[in-house]
Amino acid sequence: MSAAELVTKTAAELSGLLASGEVSSVEATQAHLDRIAAVDGDVHAYLHVNSAALDTARAIDERRTAGETLPALAGVPVAIKDVLCTIDMPSTSGSKILEGWVPPYDATVVARLRASGLVPLGKTNMDEFAMGSSTEHSAYGPTRNPWDLTRIPGGSGGGSAAAVSAFEAPLALGSDTGGSIRQPAAVTGSVGMKPTYGGVSRYGAIALASSLDQVGPVTRTVLDAGLLHDVIGGHDPRDSTSIPDAWPSFADAARAGLRGEGLKGLRVGVVSELSQEGQGFQPGVLQRFRESLALLEAQGAEIVEVSAPSFEYAIAAYYLILPAEASSNLAKFDSVRFGLRVDVPGGTVEDVMAATREQGFGPEVKRRIILGTYALSAGYYDAYYGSAQKVRTLIQRDFDAAFAKVDVLATPSAPTTAFPLGSKVDDPLAMYLNDLTTIPANLAGVPGISIPAGLAPEDDLPVGIQFMAPVREDARLYTVGAALESLLEQEWGGPLLAKAPALG
Ligand code: GLN
Repeated sequence: MSAAELVTKTAAELSGLLASGEVSSVEATQAHLDRIAAVDGDVHAYLHVNSAALDTARAIDERRTAGETLPALAGVPVAIKDVLCTIDMPSTSGSKILEGWVPPYDATVVARLRASGLVPLGKTNMDEFAMGSSTEHSAYGPTRNPWDLTRIPGGSGGGSAAAVSAFEAPLALGSDTGGSIRQPAAVTGSVGMKPTYGGVSRYGAIALASSLDQVGPVTRTVLDAGLLHDVIGGHDPRDSTSIPDAWPSFADAARAGLRGEGLKGLRVGVVSELSQEGQGFQPGVLQRFRESLALLEAQGAEIVEVSAPSFEYAIAAYYLILPAEASSNLAKFDSVRFGLRVDVPGGTVEDVMAATREQGFGPEVKRRIILGTYALSAGYYDAYYGSAQKVRTLIQRDFDAAFAKVDVLATPSAPTTAFPLGSKVDDPLAMYLNDLTTIPANLAGVPGISIPAGLAPEDDLPVGIQFMAPVREDARLYTVGAALESLLEQEWGGPLLAKAPALG
């Protein structure tokens, strides 16, 4: 099989080819490394390419040849968002303050990838400390959208989404605090899943806002996301918020959807506050969203309008809670413990700390530290942080009320398709509005998935549809997502990414 064919295979397909011996992990890994060499100069999905990838692949091939039975994804390459600690590769979280820092341990999710024999290809680009919706806040320069190199790939995990949509990796890990898996997936025509809070370990994920952060898969198909989620998910005693229960197989849940199960009688709630004209949505986004709902309805799903009045305040609450938690989490970057230290001859420790943070943090990070410190300060705590926490409770109640009536909630994954690079980077409020539909799920801890819903007629760029389910019902999202994916692919005559322009 040619390298060009190999990189278009899904992880599920590669798994089959590897198991049957038709393809080796070295071949699959080399094909992706070649693809990275050919296109990443334009896309800039990666901050670091793993020089040990082929050795890892070779070791897996040897174990297979020796007759060992290996996990489903053994030998399949994977890209890792740079927010995750890797013992053998730099982990910068997109920041200059951590330039060149190699952690002394692996994040639990990374350790699980290795234990299942996946082959890390490298670390992907991201907005600094996962703050942003375009990857333009990366200290290492932006990633470009493979559909149109003049456009953003979403953020903060634009690198992971661009890597899978540019065929530079079949699988990637992302992290989602307010949408950083789902929004990049939406604008690049990929699949992104934010698991239930506590469903996937955060140990070794460089924290942005600990009550919101979740690690999850970014892939080209729903089944691949389920396969990867099965590898990384489940209880981790090293994360005190990790849910101890056993989880069902998410790959099996996706396979049920591919067989057409799960739609008949499914009650799909359309959030009236997040689905109408006049709410900031591009017309073509709403059009594709409604067409997807019509497809579900034709298969026996019931579409119900539900109101979630507090969702209107989600962005305002999030941009108090997130900076508050971030200002506390980022206090550890003090020039003493990690990464960068800017010497100030004759200066005090405070002078060194200030100079290091001045040089090491970018403008968006500084903005949020200042905002968060202010919101938490004694005189303002109740007015800002306290009020935001109350709104968070109201949003959780809106979810509870909605899920008493419906099985899943649906919204567009993002208000618009990928916008041009440079168009919002100097306007923080405009940037924050991109997470209109994704933030509520983080505030309530519920799972959310984004799958491709087509190309917007006005610009031929990908649109995503988001489904959300009650906490711990992640499997339902895989079934519904895979069922809709297969209906849409029948309409399109193949995967949406087959329509993406060729690169390289
Ligand atoms: N875009 C959102 C923010 O800037 C979400 C970030 C994320 O999910 N990490 O905070």
